[in-house]
Amino acid sequence: MIWTLRRKLAISHVVPILLLMPLLSLYLLYSLEDFYTQNLVNQLVNQAQLLRNEIQHNPSLVSNQASAQAFAGTLAPLTDARVLFLSPDATVWASTREEDASRIGSQYQPPAVTQALIGGLVKGVGPGFTTDVAYAVLPLRQGGKVTGALRLSYEMDDVRAQFDQLRELIIAGVVLTVVLALGLSWGLSMTIARPLRELTASVRGIAGGDYHTRVAIHGRDEVGELGDSFNRMAARLDQAEQARERQLAAIAHELARPLTGMRAGLDTLQEGQVTDPGMLETLLGGVGDELDRLERLVGTLQGLHKRALRPLQLNRTEISLEQVIRACVGNFNSSADRLGIHLNSQVPPELRVRADEDRVIQVLTNLLDNAFKFTPRGGNVTVQAGADGNSVWVRVMDTGVGIAEEELPNIFQQFYRGADSRPPETRGMGLGLAISREIIAAHRGRIWVESELGKGSCFTFTLPKG
Ligand code: ADP
Repeated sequence: MIWTLRRKLAISHVVPILLLMPLLSLYLLYSLEDFYTQNLVNQLVNQAQLLRNEIQHNPSLVSNQASAQAFAGTLAPLTDARVLFLSPDATVWASTREEDASRIGSQYQPPAVTQALIGGLVKGVGPGFTTDVAYAVLPLRQGGKVTGALRLSYEMDDVRAQFDQLRELIIAGVVLTVVLALGLSWGLSMTIARPLRELTASVRGIAGGDYHTRVAIHGRDEVGELGDSFNRMAARLDQAEQARERQLAAIAHELARPLTGMRAGLDTLQEGQVTDPGMLETLLGGVGDELDRLERLVGTLQGLHKRALRPLQLNRTEISLEQVIRACVGNFNSSADRLGIHLNSQVPPELRVRADEDRVIQVLTNLLDNAFKFTPRGGNVTVQAGADGNSVWVRVMDTGVGIAEEELPNIFQQFYRGADSRPPETRGMGLGLAISREIIAAHRGRIWVESELGKGSCFTFTLPKG
């Protein structure tokens, strides 16, 4: 990958700096140099005008070469500028600089001087005696006649040396800024790219089935939030995977249990040693019970699979609750006899409701199945029903082991199978109550439980009459 996030970030930081900083610095530098030079020239003009005023008040100061030289001598310590006094024919009369001694008496006729002698003020930057200078040249007049000229100049070498220094400083600053920007953007991109790389590795881990993988959270920014969300998603997947494994184990276990019972019963029958008709009947009854259990289990699993594909469909008809309850309870009579449990039902005959009969039977069977599973020999299982306003209620009560308070919120959840301390033969797949709740909810009814550990449980559901 050439355009990695890190490179993109580094380039997005460094390129603007690399382009803008030198341009901006050069522009600033040249503007400053120009401003400074103009300022210098203006200062020279000011000084020249002051001197000219002085001379106009006192013409004798530069009336001849000797007085001009004396005046230049007094000026020399007062100004940094080089002051030249020139005659009307551009002969150098006097200078404030000693090195100009050899130029005294000779002509000096650069264009600026010639122009000033015939016109007025001339100012600017141009060649001087040895180097470039900033200059201002003013003609001197007496009674309308040009009596000479005044030239003030300042060597640009000093100014340029200062600006060269400034330029070097700015170039060093630009280089330093680029290096700093590179370093910063590199560091910044590392802090973003590293967690993203870790995240990518973890996502690949999840794709490969490693649900335990988690990423380290490096900060509280957007990338940190992404990592946090990923960790939560991974935790959910991990939980789901564990639940799936538990469910598979539960399903396999549940299917194996009745099969083992049936195999044991059939083996005994095949051995042909049981001849007593009563014993034979009990054995066959046991195999039949296991077969029923197996059918119910498979039915539950099929129902679960179908409902995963499409929502629960109800086939409502007007049903007599008394008949439905009687039929269900009848199915448990033989189990009640075999397990020594007293089974009663108290249902008024006139109770009618619009509901899906098969589904109501499924709920009742689940509740009765549980009541028998969790009630010891000698206990009671009672079914009651009644009407209350616009709805009917059905109650399945047992005097069994009861349910601990902390377990109550969980028992209607799919695949919740109660405390592990329960004997294995009472531990189902944990689907019966979840399915029952779904069926009752589809009827717009309610189902709930009241229970006390060691005393028994009471499951109630309601159905709207209409
Ligand atoms: P299962 O198929 O395991 O019976 P259920 O959804 O029907 O699943 O029940 C879930 C759990 O609720 C059971 O494993 C059990 O712990 C608890 N439970 C349900 N009915 C009763 C009851 N009548 N007495 C005591 N515990 C019960």
